Amino acid sequence: TTGVAEVDPAIDAVLKGELHRQQEQIELIASENIVSRAVLEAAGSVLTNKYAEGYPRRRYYGGCEEVDKAEDLAIERAKKLFNCAFANVQPHSGAQANQAVFLALLQPGDTFLGMSLSEGGHLTHGSPANQSGKWFKVASYGVRPDTHLIDYEQMEEIARREKPKLIIAGASAYSRHIDWARFRKVADEIGAYFMVDMAHYAGLVAAGVYPSPLPHAHVVTTTTHKTLRGPRGGMILSNDAELGKKINSAVFPGLQGGPLMHIIAAKAVAFGEALKPDFKVYAQQVVDNARALAATLTERGLKIVSGGTDSHVMLVDLRPKKATGVSAEKVLDRAGITTNKNSIPGDPEKYTITSGVRLGTPAGTSRGFGVAEFQQIGHLIADVLDGIAKNGPDGDAQVEAQVRAKVHALCARFPIYRD
Ligand code: PLP
Repeated sequence: TTGVAEVDPAIDAVLKGELHRQQEQIELIASENIVSRAVLEAAGSVLTNKYAEGYPRRRYYGGCEEVDKAEDLAIERAKKLFNCAFANVQPHSGAQANQAVFLALLQPGDTFLGMSLSEGGHLTHGSPANQSGKWFKVASYGVRPDTHLIDYEQMEEIARREKPKLIIAGASAYSRHIDWARFRKVADEIGAYFMVDMAHYAGLVAAGVYPSPLPHAHVVTTTTHKTLRGPRGGMILSNDAELGKKINSAVFPGLQGGPLMHIIAAKAVAFGEALKPDFKVYAQQVVDNARALAATLTERGLKIVSGGTDSHVMLVDLRPKKATGVSAEKVLDRAGITTNKNSIPGDPEKYTITSGVRLGTPAGTSRGFGVAEFQQIGHLIADVLDGIAKNGPDGDAQVEAQVRAKVHALCARFPIYRD
């Protein structure tokens, strides 16, 4: 035969090792999820062989009749899911979706306003390390130090002063609802475009459990692999047909060559799944689970940034346990719980250390965990962190081993990708 196992044992070992890792640990990284077999199958299909530069029925290659159907279905389902007039499903990633909007609406040297990376925004919203921060002038807003909620007054004040051509809302580490209408109001006042990057919230928006930005934004970007539970990729939505034309030209030929047709087919499958009633139940459970996890952690003496969550994600302030993001991530990992260190607002530690971890419930909820399981997970996390409070950054090896055994038992009760 000619499968990976025979052709490439080294990569086969990686595939098997990663499957085992996902099966045996609790995934709390807020930007990750566990896709269905149907999504996996489409993503791993013969569509990877096909070149299809251009858009359905306007391609630069022959033989596109089948992939055209896949892209049409992805577009139609995306528009239905988010109740909007335009969708481009070709961006290879969330970063490239954002880049395409910059290319469509800005010139190098123009000013835009985004949420600061250190207060919850994304790298592509103007970090000096990212192209968005190198090629444009960036103004940033953040959160209020007292409430940890977006400082809307500060955002409006900066918008009026700096007159950016584009205002961006959306975040990678912000757990509360965002007042989209308030952003649009100031954008209209200064004649700016308003873009929402809903990458983190897209699945919750699709299910109606987080406010939709589509009635408010000129253009909305997203990833398809976070709460939306599709393949790794990006997408751009709008209700403005004229803007849609500019976006299409910016994605191709502006930024990308051939679209990933296997991924577009997998996006179509995921959007089809998200249109089913089950997905609403899933998304509501994601939020209920996040609230339960935040409540348990609070009960056990940890602090949650902003005091709680309205979504799938939360930032945990580790200082009550004398832990840093680095030490917590490491000991939790050893106990079978995967998280990522994350700066908290006003973090006294540098971004390579941090005082927080970001936790999310999308992946755990996909494997079937409910409120009871997330309460248990909250206690397991607190047990491990108490080890740091007691013994320092290396934690308590005995507690870790006990937690690891409980994690394995929990994962065995909620198996994924079994055969
Ligand atoms: N936008 C936001 C808000 C994100 O959180 C992310 C990913 O973490 C991205 C964009 C980038 O997506 P990708 O990693 O697919 O480029």
